[in-house]
Amino acid sequence: MAFDYDLFVIGAGSGGVRASRLAAMAGAKVTVAEEYRAGGTCVVRGCIPKKYMVYASEFGRAIEHAKGYGWSVDTATYDHNLFMDRMHREIDRLSGIYARNVRNAGVEIIEERAEFVDAHTLKLMTSGRTVTAQKILIATGGSPIMPKNVEGIDLAISSNEMFRLDAIPGHIVIVGGGYIAVEFAAIMNGLGARVCIVYRGETVLRGFDDDVRTHVHDELKRKGVKVITNASPTRIVKAGGKLSMALSNGESVTADNVLFAVGREPYTRGLGLDKAGVKVNDKGAVVVDDYSRASVPHIFAVGDVTDRLNLTPVAIREGQAFAQTEFMNMPTQFDHAGVPHAVFAQPPVGIVGLSEADARQKFGRVDIYKTRFRPMKDILTGDEERVLMKVVVRAEDERVVGVHIVGPDAPEIIQAVAIAVKMGATKPDFDRTCALHPSIAEELVTLRDKFVPPELKPV
Ligand SMILES: Cc1cc2nc3c(=O)[nH]c(=O)nc-3n(C[C@H](O)[C@H](O)[C@H](O)COP(=O)(O)OP(=O)(O)OC[C@H]3O[C@@H](n4cnc5c(N)ncnc54)[C@H](O)[C@@H]3O)c2cc1C
Repeated sequence: MAFDYDLFVIGAGSGGVRASRLAAMAGAKVTVAEEYRAGGTCVVRGCIPKKYMVYASEFGRAIEHAKGYGWSVDTATYDHNLFMDRMHREIDRLSGIYARNVRNAGVEIIEERAEFVDAHTLKLMTSGRTVTAQKILIATGGSPIMPKNVEGIDLAISSNEMFRLDAIPGHIVIVGGGYIAVEFAAIMNGLGARVCIVYRGETVLRGFDDDVRTHVHDELKRKGVKVITNASPTRIVKAGGKLSMALSNGESVTADNVLFAVGREPYTRGLGLDKAGVKVNDKGAVVVDDYSRASVPHIFAVGDVTDRLNLTPVAIREGQAFAQTEFMNMPTQFDHAGVPHAVFAQPPVGIVGLSEADARQKFGRVDIYKTRFRPMKDILTGDEERVLMKVVVRAEDERVVGVHIVGPDAPEIIQAVAIAVKMGATKPDFDRTCALHPSIAEELVTLRDKFVPPELKPV
């Protein structure tokens, strides 16, 4: 049977763009359908605009700190419209570059939503056209969860709307305790909003190392974010221009905006996967093997829609591995171990490898090296912020299996440390490395004493 295309990609986000470009450059006839904007979540309503908002939010504190260094700053004001305008111009530019790069590689972009008709056929939802393809890549990403069981949920916003706020709210309530909730709490706090986090657990950042979680939780509170734990929202009502949200613990909170950041789900709704026979798991994620192949042999999926490790560089590398395997004659599996990631809070978090708890569960005996200290820069500013550094070492062979940093530049530091961890560096390798002085990162190579929990210390 002759198909219209060798490869049809659904979604021009991080994974879809990388896969379609490489496949086309290898000679395949490729098209990619995009229902919103080229670049996907990362470029349009994720990493990039988020990081710009993080930058915007850090200046207030930096200006305050400058006083400790002799600067006098009389009037510093923030113009939200000006910032938003500049940020969105940059996002438009980047989205344009993505589209151009895809086209330059010989890929056709169809600016329409695509849905499966059967295992080889897709319907383009604006024109109503149908097209066929020999291979299909699902790269539709994820979408924010907005729980339907909360009455008045339509009054709340998701992370998507945070990039389009007309003004910084006087008071914002953020529901959730994951990295997106924590990042927006720090951003809004830095931009002058009163922030309240409502979280159903005890400590934010579930899944991260316990020391990191406590450190970030305490820093949020120290910076003035109110954190209500062990509570979830039940109802939101509008009253006198404000939103009032009732909580399961009997409390209620009032704010100008309510942001729900309680997680994301694979974006497979309405895609017609059942018509193609593609299996999904109980969260709606496309089930794939190590080569990103779905339950139907000529259909593949990469990125957030597979719910493996929902990060941009991972979606890109999965898309690349798919194209190399299927179109470049280079069977490639992406290795999901040792992927560094960050929480762009204040102070930011950078981690690679396993938490202490996960390492203990996996390896039994582990050694912990950790330190907390006040960064040199803050001695003169008077800020009481602390840095946390923690290295998790497998006792059996002294291999470093986890590094966790909370502090200035932690994401930048951890990217470099991730190379060493991926290469299998040991604690003696860290120790043999000479310090760079004076720096925060030098503490990583000067950690000498194993941490002994207080209950195990000799009396
Ligand atoms: C607020 C926020 C902050 C984030 N911060 C970071 C960060 O700091 N670092 C990091 O690594 N990751 C971050 N992420 C995660 C990152 O954005 C995702 O992991 C990444 O974008 C996933 O890429 P993807 O290709 O799987 O999907 P996406 O980038 O989401 O792309 C999917 C594309 O498919 C399109 N699409 C969907 N269905 C259809 C259809 N039926 N037809 C046509 N088009 C369709 C969508 O419009 C979208 O453009 C963040 C996410 C959010 C929401």
